[in-house]
Amino acid sequence: MVGEIEKDRGLGMTSMRTRERLLERLSEKGISDVRVLEALRDIPRHLFLDEALASRAYEDLSLPIGNQQTISQPYIVARMTEILIQEERFTQKPLKNTLEIGTGCGYQAAILSLFSNKVTSIERIRSLHDKAKSNLDKLKIRNVSLIFGDAYDFLEEDKFDSILLAAAPEEVPEKILSSLINGGRLIAPVGNNKKQDLVLITKIDKENYKHERIEEVLFVPMLDGVID
Ligand code: SAH
Repeated sequence: MVGEIEKDRGLGMTSMRTRERLLERLSEKGISDVRVLEALRDIPRHLFLDEALASRAYEDLSLPIGNQQTISQPYIVARMTEILIQEERFTQKPLKNTLEIGTGCGYQAAILSLFSNKVTSIERIRSLHDKAKSNLDKLKIRNVSLIFGDAYDFLEEDKFDSILLAAAPEEVPEKILSSLINGGRLIAPVGNNKKQDLVLITKIDKENYKHERIEEVLFVPMLDGVID
């Protein structure tokens, strides 16, 4: 017990109180799914950041993670997760097989791992892929498999019931859409560096997709090729 208290004191700005305050902000901004709020409380975001930024981990901000990339803002992580799981209220793992494009430091993948039997996440920058691997290992998260590669070249035999893009393409590549199962859902920022919309695409069947615009967002762009 003393150990717990000492640890909390040491963590200071990363304590449970600080996390609870973030949850209040997220609820004020409209995040209402308790499962998602609890996930953001329980996954320690400060562990995904460099020490110099850890004290800001529970502010509702995107922050730099190196290689000109950012960890997404908690509100956006919460919103995208909430949308993906909203249809399934009563099962413990609402998603079966999830694909994330743009692992970054692995934070969104860690959140998704709580809601999906299996998560596959792909990253084009080797050093971030490695960082994510060590972050997920530290947290003993075992149902995420990380792939180093360019999602534009992604060819999986696997089909997914949910796909989340953490980087913005100008248009969602056909190849990625076609790896959804019928009834599967993809959430993505779509647009250029000036204007992007968060869109939810539901696959009805091979030829028919339903598109819904959620809100305006700003993500890093989805880029070609890998940095090894
Ligand atoms: N999911 C992260 C956000 C990372 S930012 C989080 O939890 O905070 C988006 C990431 O997408 C960057 O790391 C970037 O390198 C990656 N990315 C961009 N284009 C990509 C592509 N074609 N294939 C794979 N990853 C890509």
